[in-house]
Amino acid sequence: MNNCSFCGNKNLKQSKTEYTYKHNGKYLLINKVPCIQCEYCGEKYFEAKVLKQIETEFSNIYSGKKKINKEIIMPTENFSEVISAQ
Ligand SMILES: [Zn+2]
Repeated sequence: MNNCSFCGNKNLKQSKTEYTYKHNGKYLLINKVPCIQCEYCGEKYFEAKVLKQIETEFSNIYSGKKKINKEIIMPTENFSEVISAQ
Protein backbone atom coordinates (compact mmCIF):
# COMPACT_ATOMS: atom_id res chain seq x y z
CA MET A 1 0.00 0.00 0.00
CA ASN A 2 1.39 3.40 -1.01
CA ASN A 3 -1.09 5.83 0.41
CA CYS A 4 -4.08 6.03 2.68
CA SER A 5 -7.24 5.17 0.78
CA PHE A 6 -9.18 7.29 3.26
CA CYS A 7 -7.34 10.64 3.05
CA GLY A 8 -4.65 10.02 0.40
CA ASN A 9 -1.74 10.76 2.75
CA LYS A 10 1.50 8.99 1.83
CA ASN A 11 3.02 8.71 5.30
CA LEU A 12 2.04 5.32 6.58
CA LYS A 13 3.80 3.70 9.52
CA GLN A 14 4.01 0.26 11.07
CA SER A 15 2.00 0.21 14.26
CA LYS A 16 0.21 -2.05 16.73
CA THR A 17 -3.33 -1.76 17.89
CA GLU A 18 -6.18 -3.68 19.46
CA TYR A 19 -8.63 -5.42 17.19
CA THR A 20 -12.14 -6.58 18.01
CA TYR A 21 -13.46 -9.46 15.97
CA LYS A 22 -17.21 -10.01 16.10
CA HIS A 23 -19.13 -12.93 14.69
CA ASN A 24 -22.66 -14.12 15.51
CA GLY A 25 -22.83 -11.87 18.57
CA LYS A 26 -19.58 -13.24 20.01
CA TYR A 27 -16.46 -11.15 20.43
CA LEU A 28 -12.73 -11.63 20.55
CA LEU A 29 -10.43 -8.77 21.50
CA ILE A 30 -6.81 -9.13 20.40
CA ASN A 31 -4.15 -6.72 21.67
CA LYS A 32 -0.97 -5.61 19.89
CA VAL A 33 -2.13 -6.55 16.41
CA PRO A 34 0.37 -5.40 13.76
CA CYS A 35 -1.12 -2.86 11.35
CA ILE A 36 -0.21 -0.03 9.03
CA GLN A 37 -1.46 3.30 10.28
CA CYS A 38 -1.92 6.59 8.46
CA GLU A 39 0.04 9.32 10.25
CA TYR A 40 -2.45 11.94 9.16
CA CYS A 41 -5.96 10.59 9.81
CA GLY A 42 -5.10 7.56 11.94
CA GLU A 43 -6.88 5.06 9.69
CA LYS A 44 -5.56 1.54 10.28
CA TYR A 45 -4.95 -1.17 7.70
CA PHE A 46 -4.50 -4.86 8.38
CA GLU A 47 -2.93 -7.54 6.24
CA ALA A 48 -5.38 -10.20 5.05
CA LYS A 49 -3.07 -12.80 6.64
CA VAL A 50 -3.39 -11.12 10.04
CA LEU A 51 -7.19 -10.96 9.81
CA LYS A 52 -7.31 -14.62 8.82
CA GLN A 53 -5.18 -15.55 11.87
CA ILE A 54 -7.59 -13.65 14.14
CA GLU A 55 -10.55 -15.41 12.55
CA THR A 56 -8.90 -18.80 13.12
CA GLU A 57 -8.10 -17.90 16.72
CA PHE A 58 -11.74 -16.90 17.21
CA SER A 59 -13.04 -20.27 16.03
CA ASN A 60 -10.42 -22.15 18.06
CA ILE A 61 -11.48 -20.34 21.22
CA TYR A 62 -15.22 -20.69 20.69
CA SER A 63 -15.00 -24.34 19.66
CA GLY A 64 -13.00 -25.08 22.82
CA LYS A 65 -9.81 -26.06 20.97
CA LYS A 66 -7.94 -23.29 22.67
CA LYS A 67 -8.06 -22.27 26.30
CA ILE A 68 -9.23 -18.74 27.06
CA ASN A 69 -6.31 -16.70 28.32
CA LYS A 70 -8.12 -13.73 29.80
CA GLU A 71 -11.68 -12.39 29.76
CA ILE A 72 -12.98 -8.90 30.35
CA ILE A 73 -16.40 -7.67 31.44
CA MET A 74 -17.65 -4.75 29.42
CA PRO A 75 -20.52 -2.38 30.32
CA THR A 76 -23.18 -2.13 27.60
CA GLU A 77 -25.80 0.53 27.00
CA ASN A 78 -28.15 1.79 24.31
CA PHE A 79 -27.35 5.27 23.14
CA SER A 80 -30.70 6.52 24.55
CA GLU A 81 -29.35 5.62 27.99
CA VAL A 82 -26.15 7.60 27.52
CA ILE A 83 -26.07 10.62 29.82
CA SER A 84 -25.74 13.85 27.92
CA ALA A 85 -22.55 15.84 28.62
CA GLN A 86 -24.27 19.25 28.61
ZN1 LIG B 1 -5.25 8.78 6.12
